[in-house]
Amino acid sequence: MTNQSPTTVGFIGLGNMGSGMTRNLQKAGFPLVVNDIRREAAAELLAGGATWAQTPAEVAVSSDVVITMLPTPRHVDAVVNGSAGILAGIADGGTWIDMSTSVPDVANRVRAEHAARGLHILDAPVSGMSVGASTGMLQIFVGGDAHDVERLRPVLEAMGDPDRILHVGPAGTGYAVKLMINQLWFSHLVATAEVLAIGVRAGVDLEVLRLSLAASPATSNVVENDILGILDHGDYDEGFAIALACKDLGLSIDLARSVGVPAELSGLVEQIYRRAKAQYGDLAGEMTPVRLYEDLIGQQLRRTAGVPA
Ligand code: NAD
Repeated sequence: MTNQSPTTVGFIGLGNMGSGMTRNLQKAGFPLVVNDIRREAAAELLAGGATWAQTPAEVAVSSDVVITMLPTPRHVDAVVNGSAGILAGIADGGTWIDMSTSVPDVANRVRAEHAARGLHILDAPVSGMSVGASTGMLQIFVGGDAHDVERLRPVLEAMGDPDRILHVGPAGTGYAVKLMINQLWFSHLVATAEVLAIGVRAGVDLEVLRLSLAASPATSNVVENDILGILDHGDYDEGFAIALACKDLGLSIDLARSVGVPAELSGLVEQIYRRAKAQYGDLAGEMTPVRLYEDLIGQQLRRTAGVPA
């Protein structure tokens, strides 16, 4: 990355996450070339000076770095390997960063089949929800070559919190870290919903129970913070669709299988998530499994303003 000419960033996937990330890249002064199957998703960026590309190949031809932020490995595969995919446009020695929550298969295949082209490929999935994407405060877990990570740091810093852009190891490790974070967080959420439902049914005031958990060794970020959106506003976080949460849980179990580690608990959490998806729809928020427990006890988990005396 030179100081003389700004790095042109190509970005494919302008959804809940990509829309905020591209706005921040634009704000940081990076010329942008963008593509999505929904052209309307680019309207604001184009008004701000970004260039529209008809295909991922066209994005790759016109940019120094190509970023993908897509739902699943299947989408990443289509965008990379399709007849008008990134590989059809990227220059030899070019750079592709996949920021999707995914698995290494697509990137590994590209490395194997295009070894002679000298491509620089990083996995850099994120945490921080759509709020973090729009505020430019994402946590980013980067797997890949250390020199590439340093070279691309200014691009990553436009989207993430500089102190939480972590180089976690060689190619593929960024995907693994992200999947393990989601697996544990979803497990915490389901466990929290279950104990809140049981405790409330047993006659404990919801907020008394939550505060007791928070003050105990059983506390977690879900108990202390993340559950509050539901308890206060019935907000199940539609910024992250449960269909994508189920995708992440499936990928996490695939990863466990591929490294030969049994994942009984993860399998159970995945099934609970799939039940919630079947019941409330693909677009329901990632915290919708809590509703399963609310429906079981016939009562919404909502805290009143104060703790009873
Ligand atoms: P999204 O479904 O809102 O956005 C995906 C975008 O990709 C859409 O705009 C869609 O039109 C576009 N797209 C799909 N196929 C395409 C193709 N062939 N060519 C071009 N564009 C295509 O998803 P999202 O919530 O932005 O999530 C993106 C990734 O980030 C996922 O892997 C998700 O797991 C991960 N993630 C999401 C969140 C969150 O809170 N939403 C948080 C962290 C990580």
